[in-house]
Amino acid sequence: MTFPTFDLTGKVALVTGSSRGIGRAMALGLAHYGADVVIVSRSYDDCREAASEIQQKGRRALSVQCDVTKKNDVEELVCKAVKEFGKIDILISNAGMNIRKLMVDYAEEDWDKVLDTNLKGIFLAGQAVAKQMMAQGCGKIINISSILGGIGLPNQCAYASSKGGINQLTKVMALELAPYNINVNAIAPAYIKTPMVEAWLSDPARYKDIVSSTALERVGETDDLIGPVVFLASDASNYITGHILYVDGGWTAK
Ligand code: NDP
Repeated sequence: MTFPTFDLTGKVALVTGSSRGIGRAMALGLAHYGADVVIVSRSYDDCREAASEIQQKGRRALSVQCDVTKKNDVEELVCKAVKEFGKIDILISNAGMNIRKLMVDYAEEDWDKVLDTNLKGIFLAGQAVAKQMMAQGCGKIINISSILGGIGLPNQCAYASSKGGINQLTKVMALELAPYNINVNAIAPAYIKTPMVEAWLSDPARYKDIVSSTALERVGETDDLIGPVVFLASDASNYITGHILYVDGGWTAK
């Protein structure tokens, strides 16, 4: 019998949108379990701040300024990561944003911003990193979706569409990349306390409503994502691919 390991020592993880919020917590979590990490966002200074936390853990960290909606930026990001570390074992495609308005009031440019960041960004990063992983003969790709990839809520037309798209893209990537020993999965959180949802959660009635929709009766913390992401990044999940892992306190069980 072989007992699986969650150890990531010697692995290189690239985490998009890791200057703050969920991405930062997952980057720190991966480093805690042994990985060196590439920190990515549109702000180099914010990346450096997150990278210094990784370095304090005794791991190597590279900060790269990159807009995931731009193909050139993403290709350069992969080149820089490979130049620094020689490989990419783990991709966490996490960069995302939201603009909340009713569908009838939704501006075309807002739709484009949300879809470009959340869906096209995952496609571009997945494509560029998959080519590197195919050459390596292995890899783990984890796309960050949302419960809104599977359910609908008012004011979320572009966001829910982008996250539904991520779930489908994850399944197609899993099928196409399986022959290269690359696992592709998604994590679908419910509300997690981060800068992205701070203002939205500040309404006490809405907060109460969210808590009562959650079986575990609390809003998630960024730390709640560390176990799931380390599991999907590690050898412990080698037989899992094309899966959407809900980390939602039981929201979608209702
Ligand atoms: P935050 O706003 O706290 O962080 C978003 C991160 O993405 C930042 O590092 C930001 O840096 C980066 N980012 C945004 N746009 C781009 C871009 N075009 N190119 C590169 N980096 C970018 O958000 P969260 O941590 O809350 O969200 C992270 C992911 O988790 C998202 O995909 C989100 O949809 C998902 N999620 C979040 C939930 C929540 O309740 N918080 C629930 C379910 C899913 P910068 O702006 O400097 O580029």
